[in-house]
Amino acid sequence: MIRKHPIVAVIAVAVFVIGLVAGRPVLDVVIAALVTYVLLLIGVTMLFGLGQPVPDPPPPGELRKVRLTYRCSICGTEVRMTAASEEDPEPPRHCQEDMDLVAPID
Ligand SMILES: [Zn+2]
Repeated sequence: MIRKHPIVAVIAVAVFVIGLVAGRPVLDVVIAALVTYVLLLIGVTMLFGLGQPVPDPPPPGELRKVRLTYRCSICGTEVRMTAASEEDPEPPRHCQEDMDLVAPID
């Protein structure tokens, strides 16, 4: 998603003004300003995309109580999940792999 980042336009305008003041051909300056604008917009958009915060968890009333035990198939670590936003949640990850569901405990 491309959002407005005023600093990108400011820098592109600065490139344009500096180019004109330096006596460069107008067409060159326009192209340089456009290229600067597009490249910076892409870069800034990617950086802000990385920085998006994780969405808030749903309020406690909307969480389902679950009792699921997962085991890491690589190191053997076990964890118990006690609440989830859905009845059949995605397994957590450990050692960068999805954990195995051991047994739902009722
Ligand atoms: Zn593990």
